[in-house]
Amino acid sequence: MNILLIGAPGSGKGTLSQKLTKKYKLKHLSTGDIFRAEIAEGTERGQILKQAMEQGLLAPSDILLEVMKDRLSKSECADNVLLDGFGKTLEEAKELHSFYKIDKVIFLDVDYGTVLKRILKRRICPDCGFVTTVDQSGEVCEKCGSKLISRIDDNEQTFSKRYQVFMEQTMPIVKYFDEAKILTKINANDSIDKIYAKVCNIVEGNTKEIEK
Ligand SMILES: [Zn+2]
Repeated sequence: MNILLIGAPGSGKGTLSQKLTKKYKLKHLSTGDIFRAEIAEGTERGQILKQAMEQGLLAPSDILLEVMKDRLSKSECADNVLLDGFGKTLEEAKELHSFYKIDKVIFLDVDYGTVLKRILKRRICPDCGFVTTVDQSGEVCEKCGSKLISRIDDNEQTFSKRYQVFMEQTMPIVKYFDEAKILTKINANDSIDKIYAKVCNIVEGNTKEIEK
């Protein structure tokens, strides 16, 4: 079974991906990882992707599609994959979907206020890279004891822009998969444990209920 997880920054997508890949022995494939692998191979396409990333631009569509198709057509990606990202535009998502089988799309639907609160509580350890929230750990890294800091782009102004861009790009893709009858939308304003339980139910096919 191949699953596509869609969620705004701060929706809990990263944490859920980690838990799901472990529990269901899925292979985690993110667009970012696929691009980084291409860049590391030093190909011409990798060079173009690198430039786009450095300039904060979207990858050119033809390159994105070529790179994604190459990767997704490898035998190890045929089944049991958890996809994190699948084209940035509706056209790219449609093209990839015509090429690659997706069984379930899970959309983590979360309010702006909820994700903003989560983002502002997020801290990173400057020494070991451990990411946590201030509720859980206080202000000191639980792995190495260093003082935690906020990520540079975790402030309200930057986040509001990132969130807005994400929603504009993603909602047409959500609608497309909904019409294809493979999308389940879940309310992701709850605690991560509750969201995880709901997502597991969907993965296991225990719920037909679609929250609107
Ligand atoms: Zn640390």
